[in-house]
Amino acid sequence: MEKIKNFLKTFLLYELVKGMALTGRYFFARKITVQFPEEKTPQSFRFRGLHAQRRYANGEERCIGCKLCEAVCPALAIKIEVAERGDGTRRTTQYDIDLTKCIFCGFCEESCPVDAIVETRVFEYHGEKRGDLYYTKPMLLAIGDKYEEQIARDRAADAKYR
Ligand code: SF4
Ligand code: SF4
Repeated sequence: MEKIKNFLKTFLLYELVKGMALTGRYFFARKITVQFPEEKTPQSFRFRGLHAQRRYANGEERCIGCKLCEAVCPALAIKIEVAERGDGTRRTTQYDIDLTKCIFCGFCEESCPVDAIVETRVFEYHGEKRGDLYYTKPMLLAIGDKYEEQIARDRAADAKYR
């Protein structure tokens, strides 16, 4: 019985017709190709793009140099040096992320007790040499300053689901 079925399938080009039917269905379907970069796909508020360091509204940097993000990073991409300031608070003297090592897992932002290190929605960046993707503290703070509004909105949206 199975043999006859297979013979008929072969004789009637069943697989070919099935394939053509699928092609035909998508030929007339609504096109879903996105014309990047003119068009963009929607992004989640949890999108894990370029990192940023945030400040409080008074301009004070959030990071307290606890090094949790450095400890949790599975790619060993974060390098932090810390010193005590004149007012007795701890602040980083060096905070670097090597994005050539980073796997964008988000563990750093998950571990941060003060919401200092975050991953933004920014994904359109590049480097032409290895060093270009080595982001230092001033670079990360500059990204945070630039996108703070969006970051704050995303963190607030995220908090609703926790
Ligand atoms: S996203 Fe993951 S891999 Fe990248 S710096 Fe943060 S913890 Fe490390
Ligand atoms: S970014 Fe957050 S987790 Fe990392 S050292 Fe600063 S305060 Fe700690």
